[in-house]
Order: sequence, then C-alpha cells, then structure tokens
Amino acid sequence: MIIEKEKKLPVIDTFDVVVVGGGIAGVASALAAARNGAKVCLIEKENMLGGLATLGLVVIYLPLCDGMGNQVIGGIGEELLKASIKYGPGQIPECWKQGGDISQRKEIRYRLEFNAASFAISMEELLLENSVSLFYDTRFCSVAMDDDRIEAVIVENKGGRGAIRCNAVIDATGDADVSYVSGEKTVSVDTNRRAGWFYSYDGKNVELHQLTDPLYEPTPPGSRTYAGDDWRDVNALNIDARKFILDKIHQLRKIRGNDNIYPLIIPAIPQFRMTRRLEGQVTMEEHHERYYFNDTIGMTGDWRKRGPIYYIPFRSLIGAKIKNLITAGRCVSAHGDTWDVMRVIPPCAVTGQAAGTAAALLCRENHGNFNHLNINKLQSTLIEQGVIIDPKWCKEKE
Ligand SMILES: Cc1cc2nc3c(=O)[nH]c(=O)nc-3n(C[C@H](O)[C@H](O)[C@H](O)COP(=O)(O)OP(=O)(O)OC[C@H]3O[C@@H](n4cnc5c(N)ncnc54)[C@H](O)[C@@H]3O)c2cc1C
Repeated sequence: MIIEKEKKLPVIDTFDVVVVGGGIAGVASALAAARNGAKVCLIEKENMLGGLATLGLVVIYLPLCDGMGNQVIGGIGEELLKASIKYGPGQIPECWKQGGDISQRKEIRYRLEFNAASFAISMEELLLENSVSLFYDTRFCSVAMDDDRIEAVIVENKGGRGAIRCNAVIDATGDADVSYVSGEKTVSVDTNRRAGWFYSYDGKNVELHQLTDPLYEPTPPGSRTYAGDDWRDVNALNIDARKFILDKIHQLRKIRGNDNIYPLIIPAIPQFRMTRRLEGQVTMEEHHERYYFNDTIGMTGDWRKRGPIYYIPFRSLIGAKIKNLITAGRCVSAHGDTWDVMRVIPPCAVTGQAAGTAAALLCRENHGNFNHLNINKLQSTLIEQGVIIDPKWCKEKE
C-alpha cells in the first residue's frame, strides 16, 4: 500500500453545471443546461466529442420511433440526429420528413447511418455556439465533497491536477465513474461481448463492418466476455478487438481473392455496451414497458423490435445519496433487457436533455438537491423544448 500525500489543488474555474463525459449523453446534457441559462463546462478525456458514437465508430442513429409509425423521441434527440448528417453523408428517411407519406412510417423506422467525423464536428459546433466550455484531454479523477454534495470535481490534464467548483454534476461517463467515485450505489456487469466495428478499404471502396460476437447467444468458442470497470478487461478488449479485426481482414482477403484489403479506421475507444450503472431511486425493468411514471422525463421505443414504449422516470437518473449529482446516458438505472434498450444513442440523448435541464433548474431554484426539484416545471420545460412526453400510449400509471 502507498499513501498519496495530501496537497492543495488550484481551482481551475467555477461553473453552475459540470458535465463529465462528452458522448451523446454528455453533449445533450451540456446543450440543455446551457440553453436553460446555466454556465456549463464539459470534461472529456479524449480529444473529440461523441464517445462510442464517433470514436467507437458506432455509426447508426437508432430509431426515434416505436416501429408502429409513432415518433416517441423529439427535442435534442432529434436535433442530434439531424446534426449527425449536417456535414453528410446520410439521409433522413423520406416518410419521416415534413410532408412525407405517413402510412409508410409503420414500415420504415426513423433512423439513419451517419459519418463519425462529420458528427463530431457538428456536435462541437453546437456546444461552442451555446457557450459551453470544453475541457478536452481532461480526465475526471475524483470529487471534493461537502457532506452529501459534490463541491468540486477533480480533474487531471497536461496542466496537472486541479479542481472545478460547481453547483451540480452530470455523470455522462457511460461507466458511472462520478457516481462510483463519490460513493453513490452502482451496479457492474461483466457480460460485454467482443466487438470491433471498423472500416476497411480495398483500393476502391470503404466498407463498414459491424464486427461483434453474437449478443444473445452463448459466447463463441475461444472468445470471452469483459467487464468495463476492470482495467485488465479494458486492456483485453482493446487487444482482442484488434486481433478480431485482423482475422476478419484475412478472411475477407481469402473470400474475395483480394490481398489489398486492409483496415482503414478502427475504434479509438473500446466498444463496451454495458459496464457500470447507477442504482437509482427507480430502476427501469422489463415490466415497466408502457408504464407511466409521474416523473416521466421522456420516452423511448425499443431499437430491437417494433411496439414497445418506455416512459423514463426522473428517479432513474438520481441515486439515494449525493444530492447534486445526476446521471445520463448508458449508465442510468435500468436493469437487464431494459438496460439494453436504454443504452443506445436516442435514449442517451433523451436522458441527457433531461439531466441538463434538471441541473440548470436546480441552479435556478438554488436548493442544491435534485430530490426537491420541481418536477412539473422540469416536465413543462422539456415539453416546451421539443421532448415528447405523452401518456396516451401507456397501459398502466403510477
Ligand atoms: C459494439 C457496439 C455497437 C453499438 N451499436 C449501436 C448502434 O448501432 N446504434 C446506437 O444507437 N447505439 C449503438 N451502441 C450503443 C451506443 O453507441 C452507446 O451506448 C451510446 O452512444 C452511449 O452514449 P453515452 O454518452 O452514454 O456514453 P459513451 O458514448 O460511452 O460516452 C462517454 C464519454 O465519457 C468519456 N469519459 C468516460 N470516463 C471519463 C472520465 N473519467 N473523464 C473524462 N471523460 C470520460 C468517454 O471518453 C466518452 O466520450 C453500440 C455500442 C457498442 C459497444
């Protein structure tokens, strides 16, 4: 055991809202908080926005609809879908455009494929236009607590270690890093499958390969599963993914009789799906399908099948312990199959917009406790800003 010496840290700056993590959830959070009047910064350990969606090359914006013709996600979820193709390529399906053939919406889902580089640039533009301070190449390390509130987040970058004071913190790390470090209850799983989505080039064409071990079948012989909160497994997934990609390249060369196929772009971050999440005040479960919560902050369909609709409760974003901490994205409180529904891009944008709006309102209400937030005000603000919260599809109400 080694004891790290106590030392005084410089205060880098003070913000109303600190967003940790610049994936889809972090971008949506920062945008929402800034638009609702907060002074916001976003801390990102990499040097580009988008997280798995861009650096992880997961370039399919899954549906904003329920598969039965109804759009269930609007607001920043839809704005980011449009931003993902602002610098092209990519197309919104014709029937989902204004004036499009509504009858076709039951057949064609509201989703698209985007280009990671274009999306990263347009997200950065959006945040800068909204005066969000970006801290790239800066890793969240720890928190300074004042009783049950986070007084400052502690970060490290090329300038060394420093503190950023704040009124509210949004954990959009994907891995619930802030929740875990600050002593909030979290849950980890080690079920991640080997994955290595990548682009190849054969001298003429660039091709996307959605390379992954099957998700819902036994792990193939010779493969294994991984935990995203264990550094050994993080190393292993990085290395195994690269071998997986190379094996695929050799296979392609053989099948296509072309020795000039090679990997062009490979993921810059490991492709973990579910790692560690918050154990929230409410955990979303399968039986919550079409269950309307009083504190619903948005909705989502199921990317895997047509029909299901989930109402997302505010309480799945907050824990029992830390009063000014809220989560967004793939680390909110959802269990099993419902976690699988909630972890993808569109619901990450929904929880991001809700967390950012809630954090800005918290600063305005000035009580520093998400448990005391005016939920009616949060819901009406979200609806005014394009979020769809419509109980008409529910089977049961709280
Ligand atoms: C193989 C695979 C295929 C997928 N396919 C699809 C698909 O086709 N369509 C779809 O919609 N979704 C898909 N997903 C899921 C989806 O991409 C992600 O779950 C979603 O984008 C998560 O967004 P997020 O913002 O919650 O988290 P992330 O994208 O993980 O973003 C978290 C961000 O926080 C940063 N961060 C983490 N820790 C720290 C720290 N300590 N300090 C500072 N920064 C930190 C990270 O660098 C990252 O930028 C897929 C996922 C995988 C792994």
